[in-house]
Amino acid sequence: MTVPTRRDVLRTAAEAAAFGLCCMPMLRTPAMAVDARTAGYFNYQIGDILCTALYDGIWQKEHDEGFIENASVDDTKKALAQGGLPAGHVTIEFTQTLLETGGKIVLIDPGTGGQWVPTAGTMMENLVAAGLFPSDVDTILISHFHPDHIYGLMDKDTDAQEFPNAEIIVPAAEYDFWTDAQVFTKLPKAWHPLAARIQKTFPNWPNVRRVEHDVEVAPGIRSLSAPGHTLGHTAYHVSSGDAELIVAGDVAITPALFVANPGWRITYDADPELAEQTRRRLFDRVAADDAVIAGYHFGFPNAGKIHVDGQGYAFEAFSA
Ligand SMILES: [Zn+2]
Repeated sequence: MTVPTRRDVLRTAAEAAAFGLCCMPMLRTPAMAVDARTAGYFNYQIGDILCTALYDGIWQKEHDEGFIENASVDDTKKALAQGGLPAGHVTIEFTQTLLETGGKIVLIDPGTGGQWVPTAGTMMENLVAAGLFPSDVDTILISHFHPDHIYGLMDKDTDAQEFPNAEIIVPAAEYDFWTDAQVFTKLPKAWHPLAARIQKTFPNWPNVRRVEHDVEVAPGIRSLSAPGHTLGHTAYHVSSGDAELIVAGDVAITPALFVANPGWRITYDADPELAEQTRRRLFDRVAADDAVIAGYHFGFPNAGKIHVDGQGYAFEAFSA
C-alpha cells in the first residue's frame, strides 16, 4: 500500500487547515462530496458521532459451485439479478467504517491494503479525500483476522505499520485463535501464510490490545460477540443518544445473496451453522430496533437499514 504523501494531498491539507482541522478535530466540517461513489467516501451521522464509509474497491469473483454450500450457481445468478447486480460474477465490495467520537478518530477494519485483489486498495486515498491522514487515526478496531480486513494495517513488503499513532484493539478470542502455535494443525494449508504473517506481526507490536466481548472499546462503542464467520468474529455497537449503529463485519457478505437468503451457507465461514444463527439474531435486532447497520461487504455506501422481507431480509443502503 502506498500511503499518499503530504505533497500528494496538499490541496486537501490546505482545505483541512482552512476548516481548523489541526486544532479542533471534533468540530471539523466533513469534506463534502458531490458524488459519493466517485469521491469514495460517504458521511452520515449517528447522534453526535460523525461516521464515514470509506470505499476500498471491488472483487469480481468468478462463480464456482463450491462457494455456497446450499445454493447452486444458477440460484446465485438469479439472486444477483434480483438484487440489481451483474449475474456473470459475484460482486464482493470492501468498505470500511470510520467514526469520530469523544475526540477520537476510530477506524473499524483497516482495509485490504491492496494485498487481496488488484482491484481493491483505495481506502487510504479515500481517507485523505475525506480530510484525514493515517496519522490522525487514534484507534483501530478489528472484526476478525481475515486478510481483506487486516492487511491494510501493514506494508506489503516490510509489514511496517501504516497507522503510526493508532492503538489496535483486537477481540481476544480471535487473537488467541490465530496466535496459537497449534493453529496450523487446525487450518487448511491455504490459510497457513495468513496465520504465519499474523504470528510474525501482532505479538511483536506494542500497540495491540486484546479485549473481551461486551466492553466499551472507544467512546460510545462496544464490542459484540458475533461468531461463526470466524470463531472470534466481532461486531461493534455504536450509540449516541437514541441513535444506534451496528458495524457488522462479515456477519453477511453481498446483501443480494446473504441478506436476502440468510440460510445460505458460505464456505468461508469457520462454522456455517453458527454463522447463520448469528446472522439471523443480529438482523432481527437491527430490524426491531430500527438501527443502522454497516456491513464490510455491503457495497457503497455500506450503511443503511434492514427490514424483514419474506423468508429473508432486505438491505436498503443510504443513498449516495
Ligand atoms: Zn471480509
